[in-house]
Amino acid sequence: MRAMVYRGPYKVAVEEKDIPSVEHPNDAIVRVTLGAICGSDLHLYHGLIPDTRVGTTFGHEFIGVVEEVGPSVQNLKVGDRVMVPFNVYCGSCYFCARGLYSNCHNVNPNATAIGGIYGYSHSCGGYDGGQSEFVRVPFADVGPSLIPDWMSDEDAVLLTDALPTGYFGAQLGDISEGDTVIVLGAGPVGLFAAASPWLMGAGRVIVVDHLDYRLAKAREFAHAETYNFAEHRDIILELKKATDYLGADVVIDAVGAEADGSFLQHVAGAKLKLQGGSPIALNWALAAVRKGGTVSVLGAYGPAPTGIKFGDAMNKGLTIRANQCPVKRQWPRLFEHLRNGYLRPSELVTHRIPLEHIAEGYHLFSGKLDGIIKPLVVPGAS
Ligand SMILES: [Zn+2]
Ligand SMILES: [Zn+2]
Repeated sequence: MRAMVYRGPYKVAVEEKDIPSVEHPNDAIVRVTLGAICGSDLHLYHGLIPDTRVGTTFGHEFIGVVEEVGPSVQNLKVGDRVMVPFNVYCGSCYFCARGLYSNCHNVNPNATAIGGIYGYSHSCGGYDGGQSEFVRVPFADVGPSLIPDWMSDEDAVLLTDALPTGYFGAQLGDISEGDTVIVLGAGPVGLFAAASPWLMGAGRVIVVDHLDYRLAKAREFAHAETYNFAEHRDIILELKKATDYLGADVVIDAVGAEADGSFLQHVAGAKLKLQGGSPIALNWALAAVRKGGTVSVLGAYGPAPTGIKFGDAMNKGLTIRANQCPVKRQWPRLFEHLRNGYLRPSELVTHRIPLEHIAEGYHLFSGKLDGIIKPLVVPGAS
């Protein structure tokens, strides 16, 4: 089969690999019909995630058709059209039993720190991902779901991470009626995080980024007010002015440490002269939220970020909530929001890249070129 393989920082290729086989009675093999590159894949691409091994295949956002099932799989059959959450999880451990699928204890030797994720380095379990023609899906009775007939492939693939993660960020904010919500970062997850508060009663949504084309999308797709932080000497002051000098009720950090290479490198390099990896977005969140407010963290942070202004969080009486999204928990409600037309995730798709050309996709996405917002990956399309 053809599969994307990691060849070192900023180097990916498409190579021939063996089709994965059933290794456990609960496995399924899924033939990928549509995948995506995620902003968080850029952390891998930039060589920032520990234990990202050369030769592994990325891709935690994919849908497909069941090609083969292990002997004990009961909920799937060959030919089923399925969506697969980015979380690999067992469904029965202490954490899974509480719906914390992203914190599963059984799918990663590093499980005390992080759960299992497809195509996201051996730090996250070493599972090959879906930027390929076939994927082995463990615990096949647990994670995948049938794609409803009325749902398009492009909407379905965005339900495997980007939309549920953005929506989850808004949920973690515990939004009350009339709340002002600031979203830092206008990548796909940030845009979904900005569209979601309206479904929870928010009164205002403000999006902050430095890429004008993405801020335009935030106005159009998420009906948000927008600020380009590169145009302001002190973005926190601007945000305070915009919120009666109190700060926002909720701030969602959809950037993370290191981020996708551009948000922070821009701030770090051009504005603050700091090393990459400093939690600038998180400190902005702590500064822009009002006293007693909530900071919701979706952006990815490595094991040892430094320089978080934790004293501010304590003295302002903040609530900080964070997690990787437990994707399948979000699906029933999100299915209804899609069916009713409240959310149209595929509106963020800007590029459909043949798997054979995925290196070009990474290059475009990493460089924020060609107006890219969300690139999909199409196996067998070239
Ligand atoms: Zn993702
Ligand atoms: Zn589990």
